[in-house]
Amino acid sequence: MKFWPAELNADKLSGSESCLPVRSNVGLLISRSLRVEELCMKPNKRTSPLFILLLYVAALNSAAAEKKLPNIGILATGGTIAGAAASGTQAGYTSGAVTIDAMLAAVPGIKDLANVKGEQISNVGSQDMTLDIMLTLAKRINALLAQDDVDGIVVTHGTDTLEETAFFLNLVVKSDKPVVMVGSMRPSTAVSADGPLNLFNAVGVAVDPRSRGRGVLVVMNDWIHGAHSLTKTSTTAVQTFMSPLRGLVGISTYGKNDFYNTPGWKHTTASEFDIGNVTRLPRVDILFACADMSPDLIDAAVANGAKGIVIAGVGNGNMNRASLEAAARTAKKGVVVVRSTRVATGTVGRNVEVNDDDVNLIASDELNPQKSRILLMLALLKPRSNADIQNLFYTY
Ligand code: ASP
Repeated sequence: MKFWPAELNADKLSGSESCLPVRSNVGLLISRSLRVEELCMKPNKRTSPLFILLLYVAALNSAAAEKKLPNIGILATGGTIAGAAASGTQAGYTSGAVTIDAMLAAVPGIKDLANVKGEQISNVGSQDMTLDIMLTLAKRINALLAQDDVDGIVVTHGTDTLEETAFFLNLVVKSDKPVVMVGSMRPSTAVSADGPLNLFNAVGVAVDPRSRGRGVLVVMNDWIHGAHSLTKTSTTAVQTFMSPLRGLVGISTYGKNDFYNTPGWKHTTASEFDIGNVTRLPRVDILFACADMSPDLIDAAVANGAKGIVIAGVGNGNMNRASLEAAARTAKKGVVVVRSTRVATGTVGRNVEVNDDDVNLIASDELNPQKSRILLMLALLKPRSNADIQNLFYTY
């Protein structure tokens, strides 16, 4: 089944159904550009040549003006962009309360950018995003983008875990066509809701041929981020997403874009990860380090079935001696332990304060804990050496 419905085609009107007063060649030309009602004028017995000429010129003009709009699928998952509150000025609201059709109705200008078709994948606050929904979403995107009549995808999503889904899609989407994620910080009912313009801009980025080949992009508050590098930095501010290490991919202003960068990491069509037959991802837990961290958290994660652990370390991916010993013990048993950082920006280097070579740990390089977890889950889909996994962290 095709994603896009057949267009209304006046060619199909025949005999008595046709209201065209003119012969078919002119009528055909007009029919592609003007609405059928506009053509339903009373037939004259004798149509003057001037009238035909005027119609012909009008038809030529509108045919030239007519642009074939790209087809963009909008896949909705929920979040504040689909949130609703009882009043426009209250802080409390419910995420994922509004359907994709209602969201699209709030942005009528979108129809000038693209033919859009909404599809509801889920309707949850992204604090409730699951690995199952991520897999369903990724498979649906791959199926849609494999169709010739789909030019790009926009995903609406809550901001809390948006960066995780964006990075996941960046690794498993098998197409160069644009995939753009978008959310909002204010619910749809708020005074100055940011969702409608964010959604408009996201579609503006999805239809832009220059978006192709840059991996999954995220559009929020006029900024275009790459999935590898963005992170949520404020719990409530509209300008919450930043790409501290790599900067912006570009900016988007009322549907017009300026591109500055192409993310240099492997993604989408160059990625080796394939979730085509995957129904479940291995469990990877994140543990948050602090002064005097309890090492038994590491043992508890393993006892509960974790196949990998990411430590949100202090500073350059550090942890106290007792936790480092627990991590080394765990790594020896074959559970992969990645050192990331709880610090907002900066890289975690291999063999800096921790000798990773000795204790068999992985350094996360530029990936924060939540993205390290995504990469590690995908890496663990097949057996790999620690050296291979370390290499993935330098590559993706
Ligand atoms: N808790 C919300 C969510 O992630 C926040 C938001 O969308 O901005 O779904």
